[in-house]
Amino acid sequence: MSFAELGLSDELLKTVEAAGYTDPTPIQKQAIPSVLMMRDLIGIAQTGTGKTASFVLPMIDILSEGRSRARMPRSLILEPTRELAAQVAENFEKYGKNHKLSMALLIGGVQMGDQVKALEKGVDVLIATPGRLMDLFERGKILLTGCNLLVIDEADRMLDMGFIPDIEHICTKLPANRQTLLFSATMPPPIKKLADKFLSNPKTIEV
Ligand code: AMP
Repeated sequence: MSFAELGLSDELLKTVEAAGYTDPTPIQKQAIPSVLMMRDLIGIAQTGTGKTASFVLPMIDILSEGRSRARMPRSLILEPTRELAAQVAENFEKYGKNHKLSMALLIGGVQMGDQVKALEKGVDVLIATPGRLMDLFERGKILLTGCNLLVIDEADRMLDMGFIPDIEHICTKLPANRQTLLFSATMPPPIKKLADKFLSNPKTIEV
């Protein structure tokens, strides 16, 4: 199966070609069509499998199509560490450079000022670590009611780092009828429980 058969826009296919990718990886083959069909997804995959593009690429098409005038963020990607969040933001910039989507990287260890300014201007995508997101939310700087697409990445690392209560709290602030994608290298019982609680009829992919 080629990239052209996955349902991505022509614009994005050009970007993928420019990135030098000839064929989709196994997780991309399975995840991309299903994300484009707005299904919830559990992706059991390690880093290095092309997992990031498997959610970033379809998200770019979904967000570009459903552009709204509201200045609220329409999607949220949660990452366990600042480094991972920054990497995903780089991926978003690289794949989305022709799509005029705006994003804010909300991570700890840096001053909040610039993050708040970005939020005030209005962004399409939030890429965040749970701690900083909660902090900004509690200060009333973020509205999550327009976030129809949630990605919980590296869920097993979130568990190791004690972030599950924060994630549960964040999930309750998002619209209930959203699309949720959860990625994890393993599926220990607390992650299974999280998925059962916050995903609806998910497709499970294991690579
Ligand atoms: P990830 O698993 O998301 O960390 O991606 C691992 C690496 O694979 C990244 O450096 C990507 O740029 C690269 N990559 C992602 N998808 C493909 C693809 N279809 N073909 C070749 N390389 C890819």
